Amino acid sequence: MISSKTTKTETIKSINPANKEVIGEFPCLGKSAVIDTVQLAWKAYEDWGLLSNSKRAHHILNLRKVIAKHADEIAELVSREMGKPLGEAYLTELNGPLDTCVWLADNADRLLSDEMVPLTHPLLSTKQSVITFEPLGVVGVISPWNYPFSIPMMTILMAVMVGNTVVLKPSEKSTLIGLKIGELFKEAGFPEGVVSVVTGDRDTGKFLSEARLGRLIFTGSVVGGQKVMAQAAYNLTPITLELGGKDPAIVLPDAPVDWTARGITWGAFTNAGQACASIERLYILKGKKTDQLIEKIVEKTKALKVGPATDENVDVGPLIDAEQLAKVVSQVEEAKEAGATVLCGGRQMTELGGYFYEPTVLTNVNHSMKIMQEETFGPVLPIMVIDNEDKAVELANDSEFGLCGTVWGKNLKRAEDIARDLQVGTVLINDCLFSHAAPQLPWGGLKKSGIGRSHARFGLMDLVNIKHINIDGAGGTTRLWWYPYGPNRTKTVRGGILMFHGSFGAKISGFFSFLGNIFKNPRNK
Ligand code: NAD
Repeated sequence: MISSKTTKTETIKSINPANKEVIGEFPCLGKSAVIDTVQLAWKAYEDWGLLSNSKRAHHILNLRKVIAKHADEIAELVSREMGKPLGEAYLTELNGPLDTCVWLADNADRLLSDEMVPLTHPLLSTKQSVITFEPLGVVGVISPWNYPFSIPMMTILMAVMVGNTVVLKPSEKSTLIGLKIGELFKEAGFPEGVVSVVTGDRDTGKFLSEARLGRLIFTGSVVGGQKVMAQAAYNLTPITLELGGKDPAIVLPDAPVDWTARGITWGAFTNAGQACASIERLYILKGKKTDQLIEKIVEKTKALKVGPATDENVDVGPLIDAEQLAKVVSQVEEAKEAGATVLCGGRQMTELGGYFYEPTVLTNVNHSMKIMQEETFGPVLPIMVIDNEDKAVELANDSEFGLCGTVWGKNLKRAEDIARDLQVGTVLINDCLFSHAAPQLPWGGLKKSGIGRSHARFGLMDLVNIKHINIDGAGGTTRLWWYPYGPNRTKTVRGGILMFHGSFGAKISGFFSFLGNIFKNPRNK
C-alpha cells in the first residue's frame, strides 16, 4: 500500500510537539513515485469500480472492525504525533470514521441507486430518463495534521464507498497517522491500490494535485488551497477545498450562563484551538448577565490543565510546532499593543518543554486587529460586547471566512433567525464543532473557507459522475426539432408554444396552427 520509490532524497521528520522529540523519519516522495502510485490506483479502480455497493459496504464494515480493534493504538498515536489529549483523540478522531462506516453501509446503496426522472414536455413523452451515479476513478486526498485520522479517513471512506480508489497525501506533520490509515485498509482486506499513501511535504502534494485524477479533495490552509486550485487547473481536475475558518459565536442575553460558558470554552480551546471550526470570535449581546458570563468563561479557562497528552488529566495540549506558536504569540501581542486587555493567559508556557501556549481570553478587541480577522488556530478567545443583534450579525459576517458559526440562547426562534443571517456553511445553536463527525451532515464553507461540500449525500454526489441516460423506444415519432426547417415547421412550433403556454384565446389559435401544419411538408408555406 505504501509506495517506496522516490526521486527525492530528502526525508521528513515527525515530531512530538509536547516534547519536541523526533518520533519518525520518512521518505519525501518525488514526482515519479507519486505518478506510479496514482497509476497503481487507476489499475485497482478497474476492478474496485465494478464491485456492487453491497460488496464495497462489506469491506467498509470489515474496516470498522479493524479500526475498533486498533482504537487504543490510533488514539495514542494521534496524541503522540499531534499532541491532543488522549480522551479527545478517542472522542474526536474515532467516532466520526466509525459512524461513517455504519452510515455508508446502511445508506449508500439507497443514495446511489438509479433515479428515474419524469419529463413534463409532451414532445418528450416517449422518452425515459434515468440518472446513474458512477465513480470518477482515482481521488487524490491531501489532508492536514489537526484531525490527522478523522479528516482523511472520513473522506476516503466516502470516496471508496462509491467505487473510487484513493491516493492519500497526509500532512508532513502527521505522517505516522497517515501511514497507519494505509495499514488499516490493508488489514481490512481492501485490494492493493484501492487506498495508497504517499508520504511527503508540499511538493509531494503538488505532484499529486498535478496528476491525472477524477477529483482532488484538499483540506488545509487558504494559501495551500489557492495553490492546489491552480495546480489542478492544468488537467481541469475537479476540486473540493476545505479551508480555514474564523468562526463567530453570538451569545443572546437569555443564554444560560454556566452552559454557555462551558460550551464556548470547549469550542475555543479544544484541540488547543487548532480546529477549523474553533470559536475564534465571541460576540456577546449586552444584557444583565454579560459580566457574569465573561467572568465564568475566564474562570473555566483558568481551570484548564495544559500539558502533554501522556497526562490523562490534561485538557489542552501543545500547538503543533514553533511556526504555529509564533503565529499565536504575534497575533496576541499585536492585539495587546493595539489596546486589547488580557483577562487570562497570554503567554507561552516554555516551562512545559513543548509548544505550549496558555489558554487566553481577550477583551477590548476590535475588527482592525488580526486576532479578529485572521485565523489564529490557537487557544485564544477574543470577546466583544455588542449593543444589538444587527451589529452582532454584521460583525460576524465581517470576515473573509465563512465556515461555521454558533448562536447561544434560550429563545430558539430568535437564535434560528440569527443563524439564517450568518454567511457560513454550518450554524450550530447551543453547541459547537460536533457536526463534522456526523457523516449525514454536509460539511463545507463559503468565501475563503472553501469550495464544495464533503460528507452527507452532497459529498457523495461530488464523488460520482452524475450520468444521465435517456431511452427512447419509439423510433419514428415526429421530431419537431430535427431537420428540415421551413415555413410550415415554424407555424407548427409557434402554434405549439401558444397552445401550451398562451392565454385562453392564444391556446385555441395555437392548437389549430399546430395541428393544421404538423403533417404538412415543413418546407412549404
Ligand atoms: P496546509 O495548507 O499547510 O497543509 C495541508 C496539506 O496540504 C498538507 O498535507 C500539506 O503538505 C499540503 N500542501 C500544502 N501546500 C500544498 C501545495 N501547494 N500543493 C499540494 N499540497 C500542499 O494546512 P495545515 O497547516 O496542514 O492545516 C491547517 C489548516 O487547515 C487551517 O487553516 C485549518 O483551518 C484548515 N482546516 C480546514 C478544515 C475544514 O474542514 N475546512 C479542516 C481541518 C483543517
